Amino acid sequence: MKIKFIGASRGVTGSKILLETGPGKRVLLDCGMFQGKGLETDEMNRDLGFDASTLDHIILTHAHIDHSGLIPYVYRLGFRGSVVCSDATRDLCSIMLADSGYIQENDTRTFNKKRAKKGLPVVTPIYTREDAVACMNLFIGIPEGMNFRIDDNTKVRFTSTGHMLGSVTANLQVRENGQIRRIAYTGDIGRPTDYLLMPPKPFAQADILITESTYGDRLHSIDKEADEELLKVVEYTCVEKKGKLIIPAFSVGRTQKLVYILNNFYNEGRLPRTDIYVDSPLAVNATTVFRMHYEWFNKGFQKVLEDDQDPFGFSNLYYIKKAEDSKKLNDINKPCIIISASGMMEAGRVKHHLANNISNPANTILAVGYCAPETLGARILRGDREVSIHGNPYEVKADVKKIDAFSGHGDYKEMISFLECQDKKALEKTFLVHGDYDTQKKYAESLMEAGFSNIEIPARKQEYEV
Ligand SMILES: [Zn+2]
Repeated sequence: MKIKFIGASRGVTGSKILLETGPGKRVLLDCGMFQGKGLETDEMNRDLGFDASTLDHIILTHAHIDHSGLIPYVYRLGFRGSVVCSDATRDLCSIMLADSGYIQENDTRTFNKKRAKKGLPVVTPIYTREDAVACMNLFIGIPEGMNFRIDDNTKVRFTSTGHMLGSVTANLQVRENGQIRRIAYTGDIGRPTDYLLMPPKPFAQADILITESTYGDRLHSIDKEADEELLKVVEYTCVEKKGKLIIPAFSVGRTQKLVYILNNFYNEGRLPRTDIYVDSPLAVNATTVFRMHYEWFNKGFQKVLEDDQDPFGFSNLYYIKKAEDSKKLNDINKPCIIISASGMMEAGRVKHHLANNISNPANTILAVGYCAPETLGARILRGDREVSIHGNPYEVKADVKKIDAFSGHGDYKEMISFLECQDKKALEKTFLVHGDYDTQKKYAESLMEAGFSNIEIPARKQEYEV
């Protein structure tokens, strides 16, 4: 069998691993988009390195765009095989890929305006919303724990990784020359202490292990302190300063986690009486999908459900879809909390909330996730006194705070204890993907100390015979 690493190799986006099995099948593990700015990632995304129309199956570990975002593109290029994933991943993809298609169309329109001014020919989007809707016909959502036969020689089984709703490890069994080869791909690994999701589950033994390494050199702070920290920021901003709290957050996952934590404070009678607005159409749709899949949630959440039939809703919490309702938030003259996308503050409605609120010292901007270098979020967090939003300069007078313990990725100790379910002697090779190269080298050392051997850190487009 051949394994070719196409994306998230010595980097964190664009997850794609191509398996060419003995019986002549081509299986792609994840089909993620490279994310970042500019033409470079667009070129990387268009250059798949294989013929999409000859692909037999895609096995998808979870719905994040850096893992699923190119499925509409390979569909456009002629892929008509199956996309096998968990049922929750399928439901999330049906809204997230359509949203991504819409973003591709919009970004291309803006890009083409600039090109037209320079007299350059227009370009087409990598895919459209229509492609994203059409490719959903290829999806097969299967329950966790089922041995699913993809074809005569291949079976797959999913177990939860607690990284996002529906995220799984994929255990593949491929029959080659009368023997079974076992491949496990963890996708992204969550945390045992996640507020919402069940902890990562042990997965079946593999011969070949492919695993992520995002926080391969980092330890997280303790979660329990993070929710209290959030409450303190709410009290400080909305009660003491009587200002507005702006929380830029990813629409899928992070927003629901914040709402759930605020919901629990509300149930305990500890949340100040403040209006809370979730201002993102994607977050509203994603919350609907979360409500359809409570089977992925942890025991604490199940316990809350016994007394609270909707942990993603309480009085004073308003979900906003329409653009005109979003604009009306600018006119509010009392303390409130606005949770809006995107998390890195580069795009989405949160930009107009930042423009409207960042220069008032009564307000607070609270970052709850990673901001890539040179994004608006990173510039605000590093303490720039003036930032540009929509091309206009704004003084940063609001308080800027950060809570980074809401991560969906385990730290290196959490990842290693998750991998302890494997008999290390039975592993022929362990491949590290989805991490920066320096981090991966440190993580490989920690894994070796824990008894793992034959660790590889593949470069982009590197191929192995296993
Ligand atoms: Zn992910």
